[in-house]
Amino acid sequence: MADEFTTTVYYDDDANSAHIDDETVAVLGFGSQGHAHALNLHESGVDVVVGLREDSSSREDAESAGLTVTTPAEAAAQADVVSVLVPDTVQPDVYENAVEPNLDAGDTLQFAHGFNIHYNQIEPPEDVDVTMVAPKSPGHLVRRNYERDQGTPALLAVYQDATGDAHDTGLAYAQGIGCARAGVIETSFQEEVESDLFGEQAVLCGGVTSLVKHGYETLVDNGYSPEIAYFECLNELKLIVDLMYEGGHAEMWNSVSDTAEYGGLVRGDEIVDDHVRENMEETLEAVQDGTFAREWIAENQAGRPSYTQLRDAEMNHDIEDVGERLRALFAWADENDQAAAEAPADD
Ligand code: NAD
Ligand code: MG
Repeated sequence: MADEFTTTVYYDDDANSAHIDDETVAVLGFGSQGHAHALNLHESGVDVVVGLREDSSSREDAESAGLTVTTPAEAAAQADVVSVLVPDTVQPDVYENAVEPNLDAGDTLQFAHGFNIHYNQIEPPEDVDVTMVAPKSPGHLVRRNYERDQGTPALLAVYQDATGDAHDTGLAYAQGIGCARAGVIETSFQEEVESDLFGEQAVLCGGVTSLVKHGYETLVDNGYSPEIAYFECLNELKLIVDLMYEGGHAEMWNSVSDTAEYGGLVRGDEIVDDHVRENMEETLEAVQDGTFAREWIAENQAGRPSYTQLRDAEMNHDIEDVGERLRALFAWADENDQAAAEAPADD
């Protein structure tokens, strides 16, 4: 077992907050990541200004949390570090209209995902630093962990180092949002983007749902009841993934029956066989050569026709109806969680 990481991991001791203490950070967007970065930085003593559209429904939330709110353009003009946390699909537009005209030499352009930089949808001038601090979790956990004096692991990458300080600034930003408490892992924009797109397409979002649907349909088409098929192919997935999350495949295999272990070991690679592996290679190639990015950008420019159609088909799959009915039987589970959360702590 490898006892050392293959990449560099930074912690609070490696960071120097001086690189951000005297800076003004503009956080553009107050959504999942935006609210967490803005509030955490603010509470870490960094000067934060939030950039939101005039009609943004988040304006009140940000102001009542004690943050200064202005327009994206004004925020970018005031800032030394501009953190772009609006949705990836609107970033090029926000960049062109609000950020680019307000960038000064030596400013830092900061992202939480590298898509627009890596695929040249945003082309920053040469005299600014371009960094990425990408927490490996949704924003509400970045916020909650910070409030509990814990951290959320993050990735750190430098795309462009105009000042010579880009890496230090990025690490100080990561520390400011609490991520250096947990560990900040060095990567590149290319690695972050390509591995992220591949992972969500091949395994996490695309691969898993497709595997579940094929399993469910195989049982139902062969006369098994949809309820039983749902439990076997979807509901129990959580139990398996929880074990994998806690202790890897080893803990999962140790926890299931010997029959499940033998059957899984002997049949798993027959189901997800070399053909699937070849499909994965093609999926990765389309990410690497920009085919997927061009497709997704064109899809957005056309008003998302295929996306809408695919989404509707997914929502109308039988498994959704069965699931809705069955999950109602588990309403007690939610109530128990709620009661546990509200109960006074023991200590
Ligand atoms: P989000 O959709 O939760 O929030 C986006 C915010 O931008 C909202 O406050 C919205 O009101 C605002 N906004 C939308 N359009 C705008 C416009 N035209 N002008 C100004 N503001 C606008 O987004 P998010 O999920 O926090 O994603 C932000 C970035 O963080 C993305 O680059 C994403 O890839 C990255 N990221 C997200 C997660 C996650 O778990 N959500 C994790 C890691 C990285
Ligand atoms: Mg992702």
